[in-house]
Amino acid sequence: MQKSDLFIGGEWVTLSEQLEVTNPSTGEVIGQVTNGGENEARLAVDAAYHAYPEWASKTANERSELLIKWHQLIKEEAEEIAKIMTLEQGKPFKEAIGEVGYANSFISWYAEEGKRIYGETIPASFPNKRILVQKQPVGVIAAITPWNFPAAMITRKIAPALAAGCTAVIKPAEQTPLTAIYLARLAEKAGIPAGVINVITGDANAIGKTWMGDDRVRKVTFTGSTEVGKLLMRQAADTVKKLSLELGGHAPFIVMDDADIELAAEGAIASKFRNAGQTCVCANRIYVHENVIDSFLVKFIEKVRDLTVGDGFKEGNDIGPLIDEDAVAKVKAQIHDAKEKGASILTGGDLVSGLFFQPTVVAGATDEMVCMTEETFGPVAPISTFQSVDEVIKRANNSRFGLAAYVYTEKLSNAIRMSEALEYGIVGVNDALPAVAQAPFGGFKESGLGREGGHHGIEEFLETKYISMGI
Ligand code: ADP
Repeated sequence: MQKSDLFIGGEWVTLSEQLEVTNPSTGEVIGQVTNGGENEARLAVDAAYHAYPEWASKTANERSELLIKWHQLIKEEAEEIAKIMTLEQGKPFKEAIGEVGYANSFISWYAEEGKRIYGETIPASFPNKRILVQKQPVGVIAAITPWNFPAAMITRKIAPALAAGCTAVIKPAEQTPLTAIYLARLAEKAGIPAGVINVITGDANAIGKTWMGDDRVRKVTFTGSTEVGKLLMRQAADTVKKLSLELGGHAPFIVMDDADIELAAEGAIASKFRNAGQTCVCANRIYVHENVIDSFLVKFIEKVRDLTVGDGFKEGNDIGPLIDEDAVAKVKAQIHDAKEKGASILTGGDLVSGLFFQPTVVAGATDEMVCMTEETFGPVAPISTFQSVDEVIKRANNSRFGLAAYVYTEKLSNAIRMSEALEYGIVGVNDALPAVAQAPFGGFKESGLGREGGHHGIEEFLETKYISMGI
């Protein structure tokens, strides 16, 4: 049983009111965290604001050295962090280890990228003038993160923020606070100064409102539901904060008749069932060309039946539990709706036990079904057929979301034409797992604003200053 405090200005703060953290695999209470609210949220901003001038005035190399120390400690403790993640989130331990590596890659990448925050000189209009452009950190930033990637969603935001010279207040998801707190402990151990990173757990509404209303918080970076993203966008208006939002998705996964079907079936498994289908870039609807539907289904279903569902700590298990009862209810409702509208369930379709759901294949899916328009966040693969490129592009783009899309084809002209036509921020061509630290991750339309990763990701934490100089 872990007991965790708030981390404010380098101090570990505990309050009498605690929240329980449970293991979704067993329902067991595995930890307690302090239930922070408005007061603690404000104290965290005080601390970050106080720490900001000194952190911002460090050289990029000094900040990089501290980030590298943090990276090193996370590497050394990868197993421990992965264990906490599997306990509080449920994902298979091998996936949790994979996430620690992915999370840590943002820290090492931005430790270097922070050294390349270059300015510009621009030719002036008059001989006695000079034009300089500088990049400066935005100031205090607030990061609000979800439960599906308890480590990576923190580092993907905090590494570029710190590298840019910002200080941060963080609110992890109530389901997975222990990973975030452990990462903060390692940051402290690495020597990252007091107040540069602050972590508050507790009442999401109160904490969010306090930060959104505080004009010292200059930037908010959020990953989570579209609904909360829209609320934060409204709340940001009063103090005109910079905003990055990484919201819901509804990824189309397109298999052309010229695709390598084995590769496509493997890709669909990786994209659909990773983290039990609980990622915002998971394939949410699979479109297969009618000429190859039979061969695709044979291979895909065979692979789905090979997946094992169960506790993430048992070696060999591929699919852990869903996060909570609401997630199970949503998956059940989508399957029920699809069946009512004429789809057939080729495999799965039901609960195993507790929060464990069978990997499910829904054939004959049509665009009117809820699973074809609303994010599923569960191990359900609706499959629909199509006849032409134009048809599938039109159907794929007919969504309010625009995060990730996938195309499987061996034909160069299809690869280029389709990747350009898809209204999505990320397109995987014969690639089901495109997320890496050096590339820009983010969505079009209601999937969000801004990008995380790559040199684009650090820009989100920088202001551009134009200096016009008479000489
Ligand atoms: P999900 O439905 O996947 O849990 P949410 O958008 O509810 O997604 O949660 C993502 C993060 O947003 C979590 O850290 C959660 O606590 C936080 N959150 C939820 N509601 C609010 C709110 N009103 N203001 C600020 N943060 C919130």
